[in-house]
Amino acid sequence: MNPEAQGWLPAARQAARAEPLGLYLHVPFCVDRCTYCSFATTRDRSLQPQTLRRLTAEVGTWGAALGRPAVDTLYLGGGTPSLLSQEELAALTAAVRGAFDLSPLAEATLEANPGTVDLAWLQRARSLGWDRISLGVQALDDALLARLGRIHGSAQALEALDLAARAGFRRRSADLMVGIPGQSLSKVLEDARVLADTGIEHLSVYLLDLDKACPLRAEIEAGRLALPGEDEVADVFEALQEELPRLGLAPYEISNYARPGAESKHNTRYWERRPYLGLGPSAASQLGDRRWTESGVIPAWTEGRGEPDMQELDAAEALAEIPLLGLRLHRGLDWGALRKRAGERNLRPLCDAWEARLRGLEKEGLTIWKEDRVCLSPRGMLMSNGILQMFV
Ligand code: SF4
Repeated sequence: MNPEAQGWLPAARQAARAEPLGLYLHVPFCVDRCTYCSFATTRDRSLQPQTLRRLTAEVGTWGAALGRPAVDTLYLGGGTPSLLSQEELAALTAAVRGAFDLSPLAEATLEANPGTVDLAWLQRARSLGWDRISLGVQALDDALLARLGRIHGSAQALEALDLAARAGFRRRSADLMVGIPGQSLSKVLEDARVLADTGIEHLSVYLLDLDKACPLRAEIEAGRLALPGEDEVADVFEALQEELPRLGLAPYEISNYARPGAESKHNTRYWERRPYLGLGPSAASQLGDRRWTESGVIPAWTEGRGEPDMQELDAAEALAEIPLLGLRLHRGLDWGALRKRAGERNLRPLCDAWEARLRGLEKEGLTIWKEDRVCLSPRGMLMSNGILQMFV
């Protein structure tokens, strides 16, 4: 998409001037395809040079179109960003520094697959200014990792966390997956303890998501594997809610735990509905009330053919997103401010209807109100999918 040709560019520029942006860059390459994955990623590395050229050009184009806006959080995700050569990473980082004002930068995260990192690469990434690393550990059981099609074993995952510490990353995050066929409650808790023992500052706990077609889902549908039951999965999340704070990792969002002050700044901006620009196949952006997602068809995106999916939120949709996302955070949200905003947009009845339901849920122990502030209770967090439906 050529930003200069968009009628809404002045509004996007204004949003980008109002406060620093988050910048997300998507690297769509992986060594192999995990059996559960539905992200925009490919094993076809022959496209890598061309895709990176396009990504670098997009960085320059958007930086110029938005007037070299300030960026305070940077996130290199994928795919597997750790597949970039040191030179490719250096060139992409330099392009970002040239096109955006990084003076307020507070966090620069890159995702890495434990099967693709070595100390020299991590040290180079660190020297380029990347200070936070998110490692896709998923589990510390080699049989489960093989079932997921991960390219690394558990020892390699722990070694990658150690290498990241030695390379000087200020913050290390690990992903832990729940709901894998064959995974027991006690094993998840043991993995969480081992990961906490490594001194990581952040842990993301995800439920295995098989909504889209993938080889693992086909295995389950064919009856060759079975997912753990819903109650069993709920027990795991409840047990983690109790255990992780004891290990120094406090919950701050439905799926995320951190040591004090080590919450992900980039991801928090999504839940606070602050502006972000995403570049690369399938990357999402939100500036003002306009949101778009780049084409996830990698060759089409690389050749500039893929059309983005554009969405302009109306006033009610934009208002609903504030509690939909904000209630994911443990600190919840200032309902008084939401009510005021709703009044300014003639949406007070809608806001009052949500409030009545959220106050009703307090009697069931699912929400906690402190004067005009509301958050989900620990049990509410476990049932958040159902509760947050009211805003969809
Ligand atoms: S490493 Fe991540 S992005 Fe790549 S195939 Fe596996 S789950 Fe998907």
